[in-house]
Amino acid sequence: MEILRAKTATLFSGRPLTGAHRTNSELNMREMEAGATVLESYPRRLVLELTNRCNLNCVMCGRNSATFRPTTLDMVTFRALEPLMDHVEEVTLMGWGEPTVNPGFADMLRTIADHGARAYFCTNGMRLDALADVILDTNVEVFAVSVDGATQESNAAIRRGSDLTRICDSLRSLFSAARERGQEPPWVNFVLCAMRENLAELPAVVRLAHKTGVREVKVVYLTAFDEAQVPSVLWGDAEKIEATFAEAEREAERLGVALKLPYVPGEDPAGAALHRPCYVPWRDFFLGSDGYVRPCMSTSQKLFRFDADADFFDLWNAPAFQRLRETVNREGAMPAQCARCYQSSHCNWNLRSSYLQVGEDFSPEWE
Ligand code: SF4
Ligand code: SF4
Repeated sequence: MEILRAKTATLFSGRPLTGAHRTNSELNMREMEAGATVLESYPRRLVLELTNRCNLNCVMCGRNSATFRPTTLDMVTFRALEPLMDHVEEVTLMGWGEPTVNPGFADMLRTIADHGARAYFCTNGMRLDALADVILDTNVEVFAVSVDGATQESNAAIRRGSDLTRICDSLRSLFSAARERGQEPPWVNFVLCAMRENLAELPAVVRLAHKTGVREVKVVYLTAFDEAQVPSVLWGDAEKIEATFAEAEREAERLGVALKLPYVPGEDPAGAALHRPCYVPWRDFFLGSDGYVRPCMSTSQKLFRFDADADFFDLWNAPAFQRLRETVNREGAMPAQCARCYQSSHCNWNLRSSYLQVGEDFSPEWE
């Protein structure tokens, strides 16, 4: 079983793309590889933060450490972006909150499917029963479910309000409903936010995935945003991480579960770089639930306010985007937030700042 590390340049590849989506993705890859700052291609991924609200209250959630004001992306804004879905290969519904609590979530999945784009989302899993039909009707190929323990008790101790038994039952029902329809069940991965309290449970989470029909387990490390979370981070625990990952790898191999692990601190090939090469400003157009365009979900930096009436390419090639493409991979020039990147796919796991952001402006100011 291959141990996957970070996803960066390429996205999930499932059913074949339509002609227009494929043409755009190929052009975008060429422009990205050339380092173009003004793009003729659309992004390959439209990332929409549907809300920063949530139906859970996890102990490590950055929302508890931020100055918070609830915001929700409305259907009018979503509709303004609809024409893009004829070109972008993936529409990702995730950000600071729980996307499935947005009242338009099911309609959004239908719209994305109508345009032949792929939908991807990451959920806490508590609304899967209500969404099973639309997930199958729209043929969602892949989504992620956050799980932070292998038992009802350990998961709920971190993910306050979560019900692991219910989540696993919902997933089993979803998989069997897909088979009854003659459909390939969606590829689901469990995402574990690894911290001192739950690291040892990783092999058991792999077993739980296998028992539930979940095909992959992905691990990200906890980043602490306030003092209370500092004792939980795994910075300085390389040996313990290595031993646990080795055991999880054996279990994954034995059970045929795919495993996506972050680099052990000290072994990230990024060496001493401030982050791994970042493709986000070419690949993604991220819109926050507050109406601001940001480079990605893990930065406080706002590029500009989204204007639904503007021509999309005036936004996509706005001076702020051009500057970001010019500087994001250049030390000394990149935005301060990128210089202490904590985004799990791009940050350098050799650096303390990937684990500890106490006192930093890690979250946008919500308006
Ligand atoms: S499910 Fe996600 S957004 Fe909701 S409280 Fe937990 S970590 Fe925060
Ligand atoms: S914060 Fe990290 S992932 Fe986000 S744009 Fe900057 S370097 Fe890229």
